[in-house]
Amino acid sequence: MGKEKVTEIDFLKWENSFSSLPSSFFTFLDPLPLTNPYMVSFSESAAALIDLGSSELLSQNGVNTFSGNAIPSASKTLSAVYSGHQFGQWAGQLGDGRAILLGNVQTENGPWELQLKGAGVTPYSRRGDGRAVLRSSIREFLCSEAMFGLGIPTTRALCITGSKDAVYRETAETASVVTRMSPTFIRFGSFEHWYYSENSENLKILADYTLQTFYPELLEKENPYKALLSEVIRRTASMVAQWQSVGFMHGVMNTDNMSILGLTLDYGPFGFMEAFNQGHICNHSDHQGRYSYVNQPHIGHWNCRALAQSLLPLIGTVEEVQEVLTEYLPAYRARYDDILHQKLGLESKYPEDQKLFDTLFSIMQESQVDFTLFFRRLSTLKIEEFESNTAIRDLFINRDAFDDWSVQYRKRLKLENSSDESRKIKMNAVNPKYILRNYLLQVAIENAENDDFTEVNKLLKIMERPFDEQPEYEEYANLPPDWAADIAVSCSS
Ligand code: AMP
Ligand code: MG
Repeated sequence: MGKEKVTEIDFLKWENSFSSLPSSFFTFLDPLPLTNPYMVSFSESAAALIDLGSSELLSQNGVNTFSGNAIPSASKTLSAVYSGHQFGQWAGQLGDGRAILLGNVQTENGPWELQLKGAGVTPYSRRGDGRAVLRSSIREFLCSEAMFGLGIPTTRALCITGSKDAVYRETAETASVVTRMSPTFIRFGSFEHWYYSENSENLKILADYTLQTFYPELLEKENPYKALLSEVIRRTASMVAQWQSVGFMHGVMNTDNMSILGLTLDYGPFGFMEAFNQGHICNHSDHQGRYSYVNQPHIGHWNCRALAQSLLPLIGTVEEVQEVLTEYLPAYRARYDDILHQKLGLESKYPEDQKLFDTLFSIMQESQVDFTLFFRRLSTLKIEEFESNTAIRDLFINRDAFDDWSVQYRKRLKLENSSDESRKIKMNAVNPKYILRNYLLQVAIENAENDDFTEVNKLLKIMERPFDEQPEYEEYANLPPDWAADIAVSCSS
């Protein structure tokens, strides 16, 4: 298997900003080629961010570059080291066990790093094979772009390439590479790495690089490291509030999966809430439910504490660090409260609103109401309604409970003279109609495993516009079929 070393997508102006850090931050290495790679799917909107057209992506050059079979001549390909807390325990050194950075491309909107995930073993692979399977690549690719469509901060996904090379998980599957894009892939765990190895020099270098490259406005603050922690806390709290608001569950909120930019990072056993259950655990390997839906906001805080601990030597005193940490919960609550008001079409705020929200979630839990359908349909409720709205009411097993709640809700709407017409438009702009349900993914994955990528491409198109009515794809908004109850999503990827 020969590798063309000089081929590259001509007009990508590669820079290798991360590689200017000291050599202990990474290992230079080449991706390992796949046999006869092909393009599975690509995101036109992600490609547009780096001015890449579909013809370039689909060319032999494009396929070779994004499968690791050709290395752009200007790229210094590398894997980065980091550490982290996994499921609440210090896990020590981890690192890019299967991800290889091609470098970054400078654009009008700042830098975009391009990273091949599944490109072969690295010094950080531990017992892993360095590969990713088609199933998990499709999940990461589609969810990255779906989250972007939902307006939630996330890393992007450029494309998936595949090959018939076998990769062994519970069964034999095939190899795949997903090209991810992010201004940076630096994680909380990147800071923990230097803190726990007591390398204060590298800790400072990493923090300075992060500030200079991604948060230059904070350099003017009295204590830029404290300002950095504060901003990361604000972004993380806001991101988790947005997750909760669409029922997104990450599944593996380990500190090595927490982006220093407050982006959703590392899509593995994620899930979107269907039948509402606060305690829902989307990752079947998470036996304790550490990363259940209801726990996510607290884990976000826990993870920020781990980051804060690591930044302590730079910030100065424990008191200063603790002061910043107190910002998390109010930031989370304020953002979540704002979004809940929007989801219910409420423009004003009253102290009693909390009770309205609490009652709603408790009756949704009791009746296991589909999260997405409920909020979407709620926009069709009329303030003065003489016949009950069966489309909403029928989602509840306990219909009386919904009737009681809707009386309170209507009263509340009247308080602000809400108009049915304009409320509906605003609510539909925040309550998605289409989410990446596990059963939809499952069908797309099974077809793709039989070389039919139509469904992957179709889901991509639908999830790029989750708030729009798409009459031709009405059935993609449906409740999961009975067989979907058996889908189990684990860490295996
Ligand atoms: P995750 O929690 O899936 O983000 O991964 C945790 C750690 O395991 C990271 O250091 C990954 O790079 C590494 N890892 C996961 N899967 C593999 C694999 N198949 N080969 C090598 N390393 C892996
Ligand atoms: Mg990870």
